[in-house]
Amino acid sequence: MAEKRDYYEVLGVSKDATDEQLKKAYRKLAKKYHPDANLDNKKEAEKKFKEVNEAYETLSDPQKRKMYDQFGHAGPQGFGGAGGPFGGQGGYYTYNGTGFDGFSDFGDFGDLGDIFSSFFGGGFGRSSRRQRGPRKGSDINLRMDITFEQAFSGIEKEITVTRNEECTTCHGTGAKPGTSVTKCTMCNGTGQVKQVQNTILGQVQTTRTCSNCHGTGEVIKEPCDTCKGRGTIRKQPKIKVKIPAGIDDGQTVVLRGEGEPGEKGAPKGDLYITLKIKKHNIYTRKDNNVLCEVPITITQATLGAELKIPLVDGTTEKFKIPDGTQTGTKFVLKGKGFKSVNSSVQGDLIFTVTVQTPKRLTKEQRELLMKLASTMNEQPPIKKRGFFG
Ligand SMILES: [Zn+2]
Ligand SMILES: [Zn+2]
Repeated sequence: MAEKRDYYEVLGVSKDATDEQLKKAYRKLAKKYHPDANLDNKKEAEKKFKEVNEAYETLSDPQKRKMYDQFGHAGPQGFGGAGGPFGGQGGYYTYNGTGFDGFSDFGDFGDLGDIFSSFFGGGFGRSSRRQRGPRKGSDINLRMDITFEQAFSGIEKEITVTRNEECTTCHGTGAKPGTSVTKCTMCNGTGQVKQVQNTILGQVQTTRTCSNCHGTGEVIKEPCDTCKGRGTIRKQPKIKVKIPAGIDDGQTVVLRGEGEPGEKGAPKGDLYITLKIKKHNIYTRKDNNVLCEVPITITQATLGAELKIPLVDGTTEKFKIPDGTQTGTKFVLKGKGFKSVNSSVQGDLIFTVTVQTPKRLTKEQRELLMKLASTMNEQPPIKKRGFFG
């Protein structure tokens, strides 16, 4: 499955778009990609139409939107398959413009921006095309280890993030308090200088980043002592992260705006936390189901019994197995598995019974068993026929 694109990007709106803006963007795109309006390219249009609808459905619902802002596609829509930057099973895939951002980081690709956006759906190519300007902060990727039980019930955990934050001494200006930041005279504050070169084809005008101010358009006369003029300092804040119940190994939670700061005026990057779930010594997970083995005695298997089945949340549940239960039989406790992160669906707990043949018997037990044996054929008749007849 291809990675999902960020919903805001799909609709071509900013992350703080109002309901009205969302609606407007949706109407425009839905009209544009309506399959009936794209008879010559129906399949592609249908795909986009679906994508636009899905994005609007989530973002137009305040609760779903909140979930999405916090958990990305792990929230309301769910983990639709492998892929995404982290791969792994289930992976997540908020493609929140990192494609575009990453792209522009390589330098000025000029019109490639248009090719890129038309490749990914076009339509709003113009608005999503990145202008040369302050860059969004880098994203931070972290891994978090949690237990099987924590993944089962969800947890709020604190995580230490090492990132740059605004310098409190100079409030991010980079200038020593009391001194001022002045406009760069070389580029007149634009951050770029034009150069005219004479070539055999005539005069060619190129634009370069100003070497005096490195593109910021400003010059610091006396740098701040705390941050040495950078405007930011390395910090290690503790951040609370909500891990939703039902999260699976390899899936990722997104905290928007908790990454590195962007260039002046640009948004911060995002924080991606990929979960690593420790193996449990009793339970394993298959999709949203919890699997385990429950040992039973030969008498329980033969006569039937009421078992106490341990659940992942630490409680137990009574379950009656019938008489004549064979080893390897599976039983299902409905709804005792993992919650689905994105829907109300709940998995089951499926346990397999294994009949334990006793290794040591008391004298009394042995006598009772011998008595039992004498009343039964030594081997089941069918097997006898299988071997000898
Ligand atoms: Zn400073
Ligand atoms: Zn300059």
